[in-house]
Amino acid sequence: MKITILGSGTSQGVPVIACECEVCKSENPRDKRLRCSVLIETEDQNIVIDTGPDFRQQMLRASVSDLDAVLFTHEHKDHVAGLDDIRAFNFKSGGKAMSVYATDQVQKALKREFAYVFADSKYPGVPEVKLHTIMNKDFEVNGLMIHPIQLMHYKMPVLGFRVGDFTYITDANFIAEEEKEKIKGTKVLVLNALRQSKHISHFNLEEALELIKELDVEKAYLTHISHLMGKHDDVSELLPDNVELAYDGLELEF
Ligand SMILES: [Zn+2]
Ligand SMILES: [Zn+2]
Ligand SMILES: [Zn+2]
Repeated sequence: MKITILGSGTSQGVPVIACECEVCKSENPRDKRLRCSVLIETEDQNIVIDTGPDFRQQMLRASVSDLDAVLFTHEHKDHVAGLDDIRAFNFKSGGKAMSVYATDQVQKALKREFAYVFADSKYPGVPEVKLHTIMNKDFEVNGLMIHPIQLMHYKMPVLGFRVGDFTYITDANFIAEEEKEKIKGTKVLVLNALRQSKHISHFNLEEALELIKELDVEKAYLTHISHLMGKHDDVSELLPDNVELAYDGLELEF
């Protein structure tokens, strides 16, 4: 299995439009962060977690030629609003609908925000989606076992996903004790850490590092990073040996 970090930035991405800060002005490619998403490649299939506003660019940049399924963590715009661009995969596969795995809560938002996709009488060429309802219960995507992890993002429920030795958690600031048990033993954890100061709906750097220590994971990468976190190279110096900032294009092999 191969994991590619397609985007490691917070909802505005980095650089932020019209920002003159040193992070947004940095020429280091690791300081350029598209909105959060990961690609999971196995021998049989390609799956993405979330289709944010940069989905098109991410598919092009990672040269993804086939996509079998989309898993959604939650319905915030920075995680769903690139959904329209799955059309390219619909067209390539001769009109086959894209399998989309989402909770009822997320599906409700998709049906509201992409009403034309779910209309009874569809305009020609709109995305073709096949919805699969998930909840906090193990499920399979074409034979690949996915273990969801229930997270809280201030008051919004969000799902994390564990696939084998890889666990992906974004947009959380609280994980119940019994849910933490599901993460233990994972080889690689990708975890959201927004910035250094406290935030109402995301772990900050300190909270993320505490959690990584508590969970005793071998290796962790931080994602959903804001320009307020600081420059990649500067922040990297503050991190323990087993923790790194994720960056766009990072590949992990299992
Ligand atoms: Zn987000
Ligand atoms: Zn900035
Ligand atoms: Zn969010």
